[in-house]
Amino acid sequence: MKILRTIPEVRAAVSDARRDGQSVGLVPTMGAFHDGHLSLMRRARERNHLVVVSLFVNPTQFGAHEDLGAYPRDEARDAELAEAEGVDILFAPAASEIYPHGFATTIHVADVTEVLDGASRGAFHFDGVATVVTKLFGIVRPDVAYFGQKDAQQVLVVRRVVRDLDLDVRIEACPIVRQADGLAMSSRNVYLDADARAQATVLNRSLDAAASAFEAGERDADSILSAADRVLADAGIAPEYLELRDAETLELVTRVDRDALLAVAARVGAARLIDNHLLSSISSATDRTGA
Ligand code: AMP
Repeated sequence: MKILRTIPEVRAAVSDARRDGQSVGLVPTMGAFHDGHLSLMRRARERNHLVVVSLFVNPTQFGAHEDLGAYPRDEARDAELAEAEGVDILFAPAASEIYPHGFATTIHVADVTEVLDGASRGAFHFDGVATVVTKLFGIVRPDVAYFGQKDAQQVLVVRRVVRDLDLDVRIEACPIVRQADGLAMSSRNVYLDADARAQATVLNRSLDAAASAFEAGERDADSILSAADRVLADAGIAPEYLELRDAETLELVTRVDRDALLAVAARVGAARLIDNHLLSSISSATDRTGA
């Protein structure tokens, strides 16, 4: 595995592969790898000749009072893990390589950025994500880019950029990888002390409770959300948001009669955690008929 720091080096390495007709898969990350990241690398490895992983803690997607300074960084460990997954190129640029002096362009996506994390963290967050991902696509020119459904809204934002700007890349969303007790893996889980770590399972448990209500036939959004809210309240957690939205447009739904995203964000101890479940009208209809 090569560790590359500059855009020209990455372009050269990728264009050699492309000249030989090889497919290129990209996994954008901010490092501090866990099994969620590794699952994306595995998927990319299975399906492409050349696998590029970017490791860049993107400053523009963090707010002034967020955790940019504290964000876990361990490039040596990340490089070992990526190499073990058969990654070909780890692109780990300095911030000045991505945002040189005079950098002046921002990609802003409307609609799907205006709710959930976009409302909770602020518009800058998805501006930062859309801009850096667009740059990575321009640098690597991947055939396929792999993202985790853990950040479901991010997937929708990236898909919208690709569609609106006619970028020639396919976006693949991969399932959420969880700890054995259901906690969604996240680089930010290292902020949890023992008490908060125990409490953090409540996010997934609350979503499970709502999903169970849905599977039992409940379709009223408020009733489904109440099932989740009760579990959170019992654990003393007041969510930043707990919402049911159309899985494609992120419009609020009052009845779940199409695929819906059940999404939660909450502070648990020192960490701000997010999690989500997809409520699929199709699979649940299939379940009920026993097909
Ligand atoms: P991050 O380094 O947190 O920016 O994440 C890099 C990529 O890994 C994003 O596409 C995330 O959605 C994805 N990811 C993070 N956590 C998980 C997880 N628990 N399961 C699956 N994908 C994940």
